[in-house]
Amino acid sequence: MAKRELSIVKERLFWSYANLAMAHTAVERKQEKYATFNYMIRAKLFKGLMEGSMNIRTLFDDEKIKLLSGNKCSYCGATENLALDHIFPKKFGGKDAGDNLVYACRPCNSSKGKKDLMEWMSYKNTFPPLMILRRYLKLVIIYCNENNLLECSIEELKKQQFPFNIEHVPVSYPKPGGLILVAE
Ligand SMILES: [Zn+2]
Repeated sequence: MAKRELSIVKERLFWSYANLAMAHTAVERKQEKYATFNYMIRAKLFKGLMEGSMNIRTLFDDEKIKLLSGNKCSYCGATENLALDHIFPKKFGGKDAGDNLVYACRPCNSSKGKKDLMEWMSYKNTFPPLMILRRYLKLVIIYCNENNLLECSIEELKKQQFPFNIEHVPVSYPKPGGLILVAE
């Protein structure tokens, strides 16, 4: 496939979200690799988001798996020593609100610290469970929408401090065989 520029914030976020949706359907079907129909889901969603015929409300209303329902670490699945973790670090304006809070074990909590979620994941050379990445992307998209950043260039965002690091928003996802929906 042709390499995308993705130089505008909304292109990068929507492309990442379209990839997430593609990965989600493939993992649910227990596919090892992506197939043509998965790529079609991605293309349709990306187009709909860019054109505005689909929006994040339609995307996020169907959240079936409640991250807070299970008493385990959202990142590694541990069940001991749990505390609430701010996905967007408090230090950078992350809120004390439900969408920004997940359970995390102490080791994950202190290892993540004030890092961006995806920055922390790449530092650990791993990829997050898809449902936690979905929550993260939702926060980033809503933040950018509320602060009129969606039409900005990636370069402009790099100049300022935000509660996320746009450069770490993933634009390519691993094969579905190596992904999980929630931490076990
Ligand atoms: Zn953990």
